[in-house]
Amino acid sequence: MEQFDFQNQKVLIRVDFNVPLNKALEITDDTRIQAALPTIKYILEKGGAVILMSHLGRPLKKLNDDGSINRARFTLNHVVPRLSEHLGQAVAFVGDTVGTAVNEAVAALNAGDVLVLENTRFYKEEGKGDADFAKQLADLADFYVNDAFGTAHRAHASTTTVAQFFDTDHKSFGFLLEKELLNAAKVTNEPARPLTSIVGGAKVSDKILLLDKMIEFVDNLVIGGGMAYTFKKAQGGQIGNSLCENDKLDLALSLLEKAKARGVNVYLPEDSIIADQFSPTANTDTAASNEIRADYMGLDIGPKAIEAFKTVILDSKTIVWNGPMGVFEMEAFATGTKSIAESVAAATKKGAFSLIGGGDSVAAVKMMKLDDQVSYVSTGGGAMLELLEGKELPGVKAIKG
Ligand code: AMP
Repeated sequence: MEQFDFQNQKVLIRVDFNVPLNKALEITDDTRIQAALPTIKYILEKGGAVILMSHLGRPLKKLNDDGSINRARFTLNHVVPRLSEHLGQAVAFVGDTVGTAVNEAVAALNAGDVLVLENTRFYKEEGKGDADFAKQLADLADFYVNDAFGTAHRAHASTTTVAQFFDTDHKSFGFLLEKELLNAAKVTNEPARPLTSIVGGAKVSDKILLLDKMIEFVDNLVIGGGMAYTFKKAQGGQIGNSLCENDKLDLALSLLEKAKARGVNVYLPEDSIIADQFSPTANTDTAASNEIRADYMGLDIGPKAIEAFKTVILDSKTIVWNGPMGVFEMEAFATGTKSIAESVAAATKKGAFSLIGGGDSVAAVKMMKLDDQVSYVSTGGGAMLELLEGKELPGVKAIKG
């Protein structure tokens, strides 16, 4: 992008403005808007006019009762005041994504202007990667810049198809997307070792590919969260009412065998905080993770597991973390996740590179205000997972050509 001359040029930027909104339709977290600012500001400073497009939520999955789009809920106009505040300048909005009104608004743009288009997902063509729709978007601008890392794993019209209408001298990654790729590469491409992957969260089935891929290149694999109990049961443990995917027991064993064959150290939680119901006010106890009473369930890793995981983390030079260690949304079961976040921050202080790979582990690190004490917090859960799984993201491939 820094090689292009943007002076008096129109630049179409795919950003990820899919921000969370509360019931009053106010933005509750504008991290994604802030993350897009460096690219937008850079192009404005270089004399370009900026056309921004993004999705917001899933409007076609949540239609009004009469089948129409709930424009009030899903309009991208919600982000305009906040963006304008951050940029310190007026930002125009047009209530459509393609068509006459958009063409007119774009024609009126001068160098230094910013225009936000309506939610790309108001059109079913977006999700289908439709070429005609993408061409209408492409025709708006001289350059295309993709800075929407969070949707780079989707082959949608605005993230992927649109790029085919620009040659390599007129399309680029934005700074955010570039930063995400560079940070992922620090894990996947000749990382400093020992390399430790911490995987948690609810289900094994969501992270089979991640686990499988990680085993091929990590030194240590730390498994926590609900998914750990499928492994414990597969090893013959008693896990009570803990989360378990009975159809994944064989898979769990084969992952453990693969890890052993490759010399990867696998750490499962030796003990757990157990509860008699899935509730913040449940009766709780500590138990060995393979001896959980029939009427109890494991909802967090226990003190011995915390200590063991901490030792591995503090000895690591590269750490990648995806998924919480327990039901961290409930205070009673947040200790494991908090302790792991602290250990990752401590290892980082000692010089390790740490990547928090999206989703709930990002929420946990932010909740503890440790986000500035780790090396990199990814803005895209699914996209980062796919990168770490070794896949090429369609949005990335479309720019590289
Ligand atoms: P994921 O989206 O797969 O990363 O899963 C995150 C969710 O897993 C969070 O909402 C956690 O509450 C949940 N989770 C973590 N540990 C457990 C557990 N031991 N039992 C049930 N749910 C869990």
